[in-house]
Amino acid sequence: MDIFERDRRYVAHTYNRFPLEIVSGKGSLMRGGDGRDYIDMGSGIAVNIFGLGDEAWKTAVTRQLDKFQHCSNLYYAAPVAQLAQMLCERTGMERVFFANSGAEANECAIKVARKWAAERKGASYCNIITLQRSFHGRTLATLAATGQESFHKDYQPLPEGFLYAEVGDEAGLEALAREHPCAAILFECVQGEGGVMPIGQAWADAMRKVAEKYDLLLLADEVQLGNGRSGRLYGYMEYGLQPDVVTTAKGLGGGLPLGAAILGKRVADVLQPGSHGSTFGGNPTCCAGAVSILSRVDEDLLRGVRERSDYIVRELRGAKGIKNVSGMGLMLGFETEKPAREFAERALARGVLVTTAKQKIRLLPALNIPMDLLEKAVQILKDCAAE
Ligand SMILES: *Cc1c(COP(=O)(O)O)cnc(C)c1O
Repeated sequence: MDIFERDRRYVAHTYNRFPLEIVSGKGSLMRGGDGRDYIDMGSGIAVNIFGLGDEAWKTAVTRQLDKFQHCSNLYYAAPVAQLAQMLCERTGMERVFFANSGAEANECAIKVARKWAAERKGASYCNIITLQRSFHGRTLATLAATGQESFHKDYQPLPEGFLYAEVGDEAGLEALAREHPCAAILFECVQGEGGVMPIGQAWADAMRKVAEKYDLLLLADEVQLGNGRSGRLYGYMEYGLQPDVVTTAKGLGGGLPLGAAILGKRVADVLQPGSHGSTFGGNPTCCAGAVSILSRVDEDLLRGVRERSDYIVRELRGAKGIKNVSGMGLMLGFETEKPAREFAERALARGVLVTTAKQKIRLLPALNIPMDLLEKAVQILKDCAAE
């Protein structure tokens, strides 16, 4: 059996994998089992923000491995406290709960919002408003939070208490908050899986207004956009929001599983011993790597993200066969005349790896992708679209 047959025989068929085995890589190049190098414009879905085999991250991780790999949350471990301090100082927030994934970080945000509302307003104030076309994860609660019917099918009954607002419909948002006892609004600043659509300043302002008027928490899902990808440390900073909870994951761990729910002043003391937990959450090895990652998401890197973003948008807007270029920073999407999957396979055959989101091609390159590789990849994508 070759690798493709073995995988198809023994691994659950939850992913429609591309016909490519990855055997190694460095930076933004991935080496295929076919011996070819591919330009990586997906970073493992926004995870490898400094590319593959990032030396500083590897050193931080292996140093921690030489000490101990895991000790449970029953004991103190330096990298955990250090990472939490960095996240708080750079967001102006108070405390961090560590999880292993984006979905779990969002589960924490949902639990915090419900507990906060129950203690402050009463147990009936359990509803959480999310947005149509959002994506918040695959656990049952985060699926329920996800405003896309297609994800709900076959998994009923889902946890209750989620209401869906339409981006742009401020009156509708306010009606939900007025007519239902609510705890919070949960949102992505750029809807990733929903088609790489920024919510826009007007909608950010509308959410803030409704949250103030109805005493709701703002929960920002920065799982995909966060940790520099937006061109700022977190995407909400672009809109001048101050969320009460910020969740993040993907890029934070540099390739190891790590999620975080960063808690602001209003909710800093909601979680107490016994009210939430995780065996692996805040694993010291993952946290040591994340300290190395986060410490290099600085103004220089962010400027580079914005420059690369401007370059891609400039090249793609108006290019033959390309339409609806959207996104923020290095989370960009566009449509072509071909179905997204077919286009992605064509790009792969030409040596460029991209992901899709609905009908869009989604670009999530490493934040430090070298300009020459980026130029080459963009040219190939333009060629594929023009054919
Ligand atoms: C990927 C993603 C999630 C889920 O993260 P997992 O680590 O896959 O659980 C949640 N929210 C957003 C915005 C995401 O992009």
